[in-house]
Amino acid sequence: MANAIAPITQDVLTLPRKADQGARRNIVGLTREQLREALIEAGTPERQARMRVGQIWQWVYHWGVRDFAQMTNLAKVYRTQLAEQFEIALPEVVRREVSLDGTRKYLLRIAGGHEVEAVYIPEEGRGTLCVSSQVGCTLTCSFCHTGTQRLVRNLTAGEIVGQLMVARDDLGEWPEKGAPKNETRLISNMVLMGMGEPLYNFENVRDAMHVVMDGEGLTLSRRRITLSTSGVVPEIARTAEEIGCLLAVSFHATTDEVRDRLVPINKKWNIAALLEALREYPRLSNSERITFEYVMLKGVNDSDADARRLVKLIAGIPAKINLIPFNEWPGAPYERSDWERIEAFADIVHKAGYASPIRTPRGEDIMAACGQLKSATERGRKSRAQIAADAGLSQD
Ligand code: SAH
Ligand code: SF4
Repeated sequence: MANAIAPITQDVLTLPRKADQGARRNIVGLTREQLREALIEAGTPERQARMRVGQIWQWVYHWGVRDFAQMTNLAKVYRTQLAEQFEIALPEVVRREVSLDGTRKYLLRIAGGHEVEAVYIPEEGRGTLCVSSQVGCTLTCSFCHTGTQRLVRNLTAGEIVGQLMVARDDLGEWPEKGAPKNETRLISNMVLMGMGEPLYNFENVRDAMHVVMDGEGLTLSRRRITLSTSGVVPEIARTAEEIGCLLAVSFHATTDEVRDRLVPINKKWNIAALLEALREYPRLSNSERITFEYVMLKGVNDSDADARRLVKLIAGIPAKINLIPFNEWPGAPYERSDWERIEAFADIVHKAGYASPIRTPRGEDIMAACGQLKSATERGRKSRAQIAADAGLSQD
């Protein structure tokens, strides 16, 4: 294997628990309009509501304040009233692991005792937070660890936004009053590439992104957010129109026969249907290009013929091809392609005129790399045999 597994460094971070979750309405994740309605419902006079939204918004999303008592531009009685009816709650950090390469993985507990993971990946000149959109995933891509997790629930918009806020807490990235404006941001980019299929949780993902993209709070621009889908064709145009972020697609194969096996959603919307939706995306979202993700699986999808078919299929679509060396996980029915094979594949794609970066696996020592996320405590896991059977492989 090209990347030696580095030793683990680990530490535990405990945040105070919110004992009374559920009784009060969580502000985190409400869009401005939803917050306005909630405030009015809670007794805020209608003509003041917009202004109150602006004030609360700034405290919560710009300053990272969690306590209504600190919102000093609001009247004291109003603060008390707010505290009685609302809360500013984030997922609980159960564990934080730090890889030798600086990658940080957060295991988060959300309502119902479910667990999801978020991963922070520092890079030269930027930092990317990879967030989850669901607990587990209803899809069963045969090379993906998350796909073996049975338990699934959609995350709320608050739980999606909360992942970013938890990471900002951990990285100490909330601005300090009076301090000079810091232009370099530790979390400069966000990718919806954690657990789950974001387009199967469209409304919550959309609302969360509206909160994250808002210019007076967390302010990540839509060009710094990439949503990755396995190919939920009917939601692709909506993603362009209602979110407008960059799109990545888990392509992974160049024939329907192979893609059916790797990304079973292909049986519903095949390569031709997917490409048709993708052709429209850049125009609808006014974005430059689509990222095609392609996991390199030894002897499965990594031949020269595959590379040539790939560039033919995507001809005419402004694209970048992101080659992902397969990240192994216990019981995985595939192997990573050899390094020379990946480079030869990249070369063919590159010569056809497409950028073809090979994604360096990050945080492998803490199982934080693409497709390795799965809560270790999750019980209903599939057996090795079941995974192999789902992948259409016989087990020896
Ligand atoms: N559900 C979405 C987003 C999450 S997965 C999707 O499938 O697009 C993020 C990326 O990691 C996808 O391209 C996915 O196919 C890829 N991936 C999953 N398991 C992997 C593994 N074991 N090794 C490498 N990449 C993997
Ligand atoms: Fe779900 Fe994406 Fe994993 Fe497929 S690759 S099982 S869609 S998380």
